[in-house]
Amino acid sequence: AKQAGRGQYRFFDSSLNVADIEEFVLEQAFSAALEERQFVLHYQPQVRLESMQVIGYEALIRWQHPEFGLVYPDRFITLAERSGFILSLGWEVLRLACEEMAFWRSQGIKAQMAVNVSPLQLRQADFSDRVLSELESYGLDPACLELEVTETCVLDAEGQAIEHLQSLRKAGLHISLDDFGQGYAGFSHLQMLPLTRLKIDRSLITKLSNTHNDSPIVSSTIILAKRLGLEVIAEGIETREQLVYLRLAGCDIAQGYYFSRPMTADQLHKYPPFMDSM
Ligand code: C2E
Ligand code: CA
Ligand code: CA
Ligand code: CA
Repeated sequence: AKQAGRGQYRFFDSSLNVADIEEFVLEQAFSAALEERQFVLHYQPQVRLESMQVIGYEALIRWQHPEFGLVYPDRFITLAERSGFILSLGWEVLRLACEEMAFWRSQGIKAQMAVNVSPLQLRQADFSDRVLSELESYGLDPACLELEVTETCVLDAEGQAIEHLQSLRKAGLHISLDDFGQGYAGFSHLQMLPLTRLKIDRSLITKLSNTHNDSPIVSSTIILAKRLGLEVIAEGIETREQLVYLRLAGCDIAQGYYFSRPMTADQLHKYPPFMDSM
């Protein structure tokens, strides 16, 4: 056995290891799954706190696997990014989201849809054009779509991420910065991106309950975002206390298990959530 770094031993030098084989098998499975339409979206309502009305839904991907059942994105997004499959998957997500919104429109429902976008998707030269033509082919107003991006796309110097977001913003789409407060949380990024909303990360909301519902970080983030003209959305609301705090702190929109878990399209069509009172 040859000695590898950090005192570990490698028994096979150049052959495939188990992880490589797993990765290869999974990549094959991805393409088959796409062809067989095994990827589905679940929808989690976003509630405007002033009116307690559902204004839209975040689309969250799941893999409906014939043997393994429902597979959550934490199990496959990273790998899909590593293999490049995220690009095809991203277009599938957009197609499914548009299809669902077109159905809502046919029912007279005006809700928005928020879709998660990987930084790699924003590296595609035709990204913004293709998003707009997809919306057009479903007869949808660009203002009904919100893209959730993370600050990683600002750090992607070679990419045209910012230009894409600027042209989409100009066309009327909403752009929100996801997971704010989780990473570098650079306030400077806020001004570099053509944002309409700031989404406060769940980790900051969770802490609210442990700090006697007072968080200078959350409240000052809300104040700053508003001064920059952004709407603030909080994710991961699980308790009434968190909701009351956020409302008082001036948060505009909230999302979390307190209101609803992400729902399947069937659940959504049968039991559309209306939040008239708390
Ligand atoms: P995210 O964008 O931060 O999405 C929020 C996650 O928190 C979702 O997990 C959602 O189900 C969960 N969540 C919502 N409310 C609550 C709550 O009150 N409590 C707790 N504990 N969790 C809550 P999910 O659906 O498993 O998605 C995980 C991540 O996978 C997402 O995090 C997002 O980064 C990624 N993802 C999901 N769908 C897509 C997609 O279509 N494309 C890409 N690129 N990434 C996606
Ligand atoms: Ca998100
Ligand atoms: Ca998050
Ligand atoms: Ca995330």
